[in-house]
Amino acid sequence: MAGEAQPDCLFCKIAAGEIPATVVRETDTTLAFRDINPQAPTHVLVIPRVHYPNAAELAAGDPGAAADVLREAGEVAAREKVDGSGYRIVFNTGSGAGQTVFHAHAHVLGGRDLQRLV
Ligand code: 5GP
Ligand code: ZN
Repeated sequence: MAGEAQPDCLFCKIAAGEIPATVVRETDTTLAFRDINPQAPTHVLVIPRVHYPNAAELAAGDPGAAADVLREAGEVAAREKVDGSGYRIVFNTGSGAGQTVFHAHAHVLGGRDLQRLV
């Protein structure tokens, strides 16, 4: 069912503590941990503990958890001290946009000059 942990999902396993990660912050509904292949000095992933395949489906199925992910992205930016200089929140959606892990997650990127994308 939507929202339930998926046995083959990497981020469900990280959320369950079955695969280690460098955790930055956690709440009842979210987990924030460092990306294994960082693209900026700060590169943290914020995931909901519930499983949805992407951010839009998370927002449709569990709006509270989607809001929690966004709020936590801001908390991570403040904790990493990139909120003053500016940071980017990215939700890759679909393989054509670079999504490789199909458990909703926000990338929080900062600590270097981030070129304008759009
Ligand atoms: P996506 O490409 O789906 O938007 O983002 C998935 C991210 O997960 C990638 O940036 C990738 O580096 C990261 N990633 C993949 N496997 C692991 C892992 O085992 N641990 C951590 N911490 N990050 C991972
Ligand atoms: Zn999952």
